[in-house]
Amino acid sequence: MNRRQFSKSGLFAGLGAASAIGLASCGKEAGSAELFREAAKKLPAIHYDVVIAGGGTAGVVAAIAAARNGAKTLLVESKGYTGGIAVEGGTAIHSFYNLWKAFPGVEKRKVVRGIPEELIDRLTKIGGASGYPEMSLGYDYDSVCTCIDTEMYKLITMEMIHEAGVTMMLNTMVTDALAENGSVQAIITESHAGRQVVYAKAFVDSTGYADLAARAGAEYTEPNDYAVVNSVGIGNVSIDKLHQWLADNDALEQVCEGPRSGEADKIIRVQGRMAKLPKEFADDAMGLGTGIVTTTLHDNYFMFIKCGMKMPVSPTNTLEASKTELELRRRMYKTVELFKKHIPGCEKAFMARTSPSLTIRRGRLIACNYDLSHDEIISGIHFDDDVFSYGFHDNAPKYTINNGGTYGMPYRALQVKGIDNLLVAGMMITSNHNAHMSTRNTVSCMAQGQAAGTAAALCALNGTTTGKLSYATLRQALEKGNVYFE
Ligand SMILES: Cc1cc2nc3c(=O)[nH]c(=O)nc-3n(C[C@H](O)[C@H](O)[C@H](O)COP(=O)(O)OP(=O)(O)OC[C@H]3O[C@@H](n4cnc5c(N)ncnc54)[C@H](O)[C@@H]3O)c2cc1C
Repeated sequence: MNRRQFSKSGLFAGLGAASAIGLASCGKEAGSAELFREAAKKLPAIHYDVVIAGGGTAGVVAAIAAARNGAKTLLVESKGYTGGIAVEGGTAIHSFYNLWKAFPGVEKRKVVRGIPEELIDRLTKIGGASGYPEMSLGYDYDSVCTCIDTEMYKLITMEMIHEAGVTMMLNTMVTDALAENGSVQAIITESHAGRQVVYAKAFVDSTGYADLAARAGAEYTEPNDYAVVNSVGIGNVSIDKLHQWLADNDALEQVCEGPRSGEADKIIRVQGRMAKLPKEFADDAMGLGTGIVTTTLHDNYFMFIKCGMKMPVSPTNTLEASKTELELRRRMYKTVELFKKHIPGCEKAFMARTSPSLTIRRGRLIACNYDLSHDEIISGIHFDDDVFSYGFHDNAPKYTINNGGTYGMPYRALQVKGIDNLLVAGMMITSNHNAHMSTRNTVSCMAQGQAAGTAAALCALNGTTTGKLSYATLRQALEKGNVYFE
């Protein structure tokens, strides 16, 4: 709708004066889209020590860590629940362990602990996670399979955030940042209640899309180096029969047995090799961007079957992303039809759930004070400012971390370049695609969250910047938070 249509529609005229929507002027600059200039407006303002933008995989842990370290903490999340892509796209939570099973003689170690471990242990106790059962096939990829019940994950993360004393502001977008002289003063939020300003001393951007860092003027690129995905949970199916079908086709690549619907040692994960499956299935599945990999904690349910496609532009492009949302929904429908037709036990399958919006592996890449390279990751380098250790690579067994060992995440890799009170946690770091194939996985994002949330709290309470925070102080707080270091 152009300005004239907008005006004719009555919307513009109905508002009476332009000031009713804070409109000061409107015009079209040569060669650009039409622009409105918003007039200055008074917004309600509130104050916190720490603001965590985005309550997803990393943000949940960041918020709990910040509050437990004594900061008055606000978590702003655009959806009505927490958990992010951990509950919307990933099939297993990779990985709390080193890849010991692929390297005989290497010691088995739980290398990520702290708040992420506490979350999974708490979920496991109530049947909302599998714990850490060992893979029986495909353990050169991950030695264990931690799968979750996505609805219980939402509930337990919200309970833990609440118990930590974090103020949760859900269904609220971070839409802008007030930043000057290399420092963020406040964010602007938008919700059903309208817009408001939230001042804080330190900020963590865990929005995945890096909305806060980008609005605050951080340097960034948009690599658009992955397919975007929506994942369908399929009901009325049998993972035992899927397993048998893959075995009959000599296509089994990964298997894990663990707890399922109250019984131990049941199949909870399978992955199949597409090239071995009947051509009439495989051709259509590949055309839909569908792979055969799923996990479940329940009889009769495949937690996620992914349908993906590569967008021509970055997923921050709203109109292209909107077209893609429709296409992915078509693909999920066709995938379920394909399963019904070809896979034994899926004859009466139905779409039990989908993600509320497409999921991404990378939106914006934020320039940080250190950029971890792939060589450093696979050779298992540790740094003087490690904030956790990690041992998983999503391209294993092609790439693994130093004979089943770990590498360290340096604190500098979470510090946004040029902004002295803003940290990032999650998929926004690490420029190299292969390096990102390790750092973007769920357990790394959670561990980044604990590091960033802890550091933000210490900065706010000690009146210092992210760069000047003493590493000894940060390390002590992380160790107190049960973070494991190698
Ligand atoms: C399809 C798919 C499958 C994957 N499979 C696996 C797997 O099997 N195992 C694994 O370990 N990893 C997997 N990954 C990778 C991993 O899940 C993600 O990289 C990780 O979860 C990202 O965490 P995050 O905290 O950076 O982002 P998210 O978890 O997406 O969290 C970002 C949060 O910020 C909120 N938000 C966004 N913008 C705003 C805003 N402006 N204001 C307020 N809130 C906002 C979002 O709603 C969301 O809750 C997969 C990723 C995808 C896309």
